[in-house]
Amino acid sequence: MEIKEYDLTIIGAGPAGLTAGLYSSRAKIKTLILENYLNVSQIGLTDMIENYPGFVEPISGMELLEKMRTQTQKFGAEIVGIESINKIYKENNFWYIETDKFMIKSIAVIVASGAKPKELNVEGENKYKGRGVSYCAVCDAPFYKNKIVSVIGGGDTALEEALYLTKFASKVFLIHRRNMLRATKILQERAFNNNKIEFVWNSVVNKIIGNNNITGIEIKNLVSNEYKILKCDGVFIAIGYVPNTSFVKDIVKTDEQGYIIVDSEMKTGTEGIFAAGDCVRKILRQVSTAVGDGALASESARLYIEKFKGIEYK
Ligand code: NAP
Repeated sequence: MEIKEYDLTIIGAGPAGLTAGLYSSRAKIKTLILENYLNVSQIGLTDMIENYPGFVEPISGMELLEKMRTQTQKFGAEIVGIESINKIYKENNFWYIETDKFMIKSIAVIVASGAKPKELNVEGENKYKGRGVSYCAVCDAPFYKNKIVSVIGGGDTALEEALYLTKFASKVFLIHRRNMLRATKILQERAFNNNKIEFVWNSVVNKIIGNNNITGIEIKNLVSNEYKILKCDGVFIAIGYVPNTSFVKDIVKTDEQGYIIVDSEMKTGTEGIFAAGDCVRKILRQVSTAVGDGALASESARLYIEKFKGIEYK
């Protein structure tokens, strides 16, 4: 297998990985960014971003990501697409990353592999994936023009998905297991004021039903314990994320959900491995926190690499 050599390898090409790459390539560190093209950055699937500083008018997630990418490549970082990482191990103080395409030898590694949508794990979910079950309104909403859809969850993602879906669907049920929402107040206000959205409180999905495509969902009211069928053509599941960290679980410390534990300098505690962005344990997952993590991780990695090479500024 071909071996490529870099000072720094960044796993992930979302806001955290691209910012880390921007800082390191600007610092003249030979940088490779690995992009999993089967797993697009969550931000690329976001309709509009209105809380990233500097953009007074909302910007689409894809446009912001493209701008970050162009800026990072301008300073020389290489971005290469892969499908999987099979193994990461240390030998003679270098880190080796085995991908499906080639092997990488690197002094330092930044894990910025993000997170993917959590599944509900109910009957029918697997069966109707791609046939009515979706985890991405921006990707699939146009299929539901004048149709009825359900969104599951009560956080920022669920509300953003529901609001986006109202541009296409005739009705959006928002099904949440409590009688109050976790989402930020501004999204709550917009959702409450949108007459296409109907809230179904204290309810969970028991199963997703249909023939060739979805015809509805069976929900259970957690207060009355009653079951009922809600007719709909699509179900958008937005109940949070799970970090993409299984490939590093043996080399860095994670919490019980799999988020990587880092210190304030984005060090993982494993020499030469740093982490940034949504895959890290923290209280707020935003583009702005991801780019901050990326910059810090890159600086920590730079100091480590320069010391490793004996060229640090003393
Ligand atoms: P989240 O904040 O973890 O919310 C997940 C929601 O799904 C919660 O309401 C939760 O209910 C519910 N839920 C979880 N598991 C469930 C299950 N098995 N069955 C039914 N309901 C379930 O996740 P998120 O909304 O995806 O947001 C993730 C992070 O991204 C947050 O930090 C969020 O602020 C951020 N984000 C920000 C923006 C923005 O700033 N515009 C947009 C999207 C996401 P409980 O409330 O009962 O736990």
